[in-house]
Amino acid sequence: MRCEVCGREIRGPPYYRVIEGGRLTVCSQCSKFSDQEWDPRRPQARRSPTRRRSAQPKPRRRSDIETAESLELVDGYGMIIKKARQKKGITVEDFAKKISEKESVVKKLEKEDMNPPLNLVRKVQRELNINILEEAETGTGAVLTRPMGPRTLGDMIKIKDSTKKEE
Ligand SMILES: [Zn+2]
Repeated sequence: MRCEVCGREIRGPPYYRVIEGGRLTVCSQCSKFSDQEWDPRRPQARRSPTRRRSAQPKPRRRSDIETAESLELVDGYGMIIKKARQKKGITVEDFAKKISEKESVVKKLEKEDMNPPLNLVRKVQRELNINILEEAETGTGAVLTRPMGPRTLGDMIKIKDSTKKEE
């Protein structure tokens, strides 16, 4: 089973989270985007007559996904990662294992040869105790709004949601 947010194979039990109004089955990393759960055993009852329409709009919490739109990687983040890793005295291989990624992913990261998804960046930051994200300005860093190809996380979720429309 694959995570409906990041697309990775879900290791361990899947999490059921309502993200941006869509019911998604996600990995433990992406479960952090939302703490609203849904019950996979219960069919989606959208048109229940008892449904109340709330008068005021839902307060939109600033989720990680939205935050991602305004974050970018700092210049030279690859070198920062590499130096922090070397300072810890761990090899690329060991580091890859620690963050459950492939060695090739770590190598690409350190060479700045990829546009890493936010959850990967967060894992790296946590593991190495560094900060390689900054608020986006008009600067030049690699912007994190396109973690995989032309779609943003937000787009993917919207697309998921629209496919769930009944009728
Ligand atoms: Zn995920």
